[in-house]
Amino acid sequence: MPPEIVALGEPMLEFNAAEEGTLAEARGFLVGWGGDTSNFVVAAARLGGRAGYFTRLGDDEFAESFLKLWRDEGVDASRVVKDPKAFTGIYFISRKGGDHYFTYFRRGSAASLMTPDDLPADYIRGARLLHVSGISQAISLSACDTVFTAVALAREAGVLVCYDPNLRLKLWPLSRARAIIHQTAAQADLVLPSLEDARQLTGLEAPEDLGRFYLDLGPRIVVVKLGAEGALLATPAGIERFPGFKVQAIDTSGAGDAFDAAFAVGHLAGWPLERCVRFANAAGALTSTGLGVVGAIPRRPQVEALLAQEV
Ligand code: ADP
Repeated sequence: MPPEIVALGEPMLEFNAAEEGTLAEARGFLVGWGGDTSNFVVAAARLGGRAGYFTRLGDDEFAESFLKLWRDEGVDASRVVKDPKAFTGIYFISRKGGDHYFTYFRRGSAASLMTPDDLPADYIRGARLLHVSGISQAISLSACDTVFTAVALAREAGVLVCYDPNLRLKLWPLSRARAIIHQTAAQADLVLPSLEDARQLTGLEAPEDLGRFYLDLGPRIVVVKLGAEGALLATPAGIERFPGFKVQAIDTSGAGDAFDAAFAVGHLAGWPLERCVRFANAAGALTSTGLGVVGAIPRRPQVEALLAQEV
């Protein structure tokens, strides 16, 4: 059965320094999987969605690690392309004085070399929802073109387009990011920015104003993610805030990706939007309670249990 949810972007293996200190001082690393859109498909699959991923990988051991991850998680990776001339991206995380430092080795990666010709058009047309992000667009000009082509293919085929701006100013300057991100948001059905990203992109402050701003660009549904405060839903029918779940958050990385995936799974199941937001808030909250991203992404029963507690 072809996947209902297809995402497109760059996966990267994560090396997280085991001890506090600079990267130069690090002696041991915890290895994990990262990349926002890969996190998204893993979360979608854990939450009960039929998910597939498109990317390009190097012909290396990191690629094998990802292929095994997706196989183990039930994410379809049958259309992933391997490029023997390029490498799979990686990044390092170090911690000092409460701050995290990220060092990336992704420029020239196999994923960043993707072009519109690589796209599995039938795969996208056969899905019900396509998920892309600003990071997928920021990694290279050809990846940006690929995302626009994928979005156009999805729209022509009546496939819902789900978009997370995921602003990374290390990858592109704000003025270019804003132009591309807002152009893409205008073509999406669901737009799911985080509060900080939306503030930087628009210069607006209040979540309600941000919801209205993105709604005015054209999508049917906007959800602004508010971290521990939960989320704000904006549709032409109105704007409403949904409080976050009270949890012991220790590492929020990946919470936004899990939120997006949960919302998409709920929406495809035909749930009312309010239920989708609560489900997504619960999935995001649970992801923030574990270290690392993939290990912390909850499965459906954990999310249901948290939802049941709050009633
Ligand atoms: P991003 O990871 O994109 O920056 P957020 O930090 O806003 O996004 O988190 C995404 C979602 O995860 C939030 O909207 C919320 O539902 C949930 N979440 C994140 N942090 C917490 C927290 N400390 N407590 C409860 N829920 C959280």
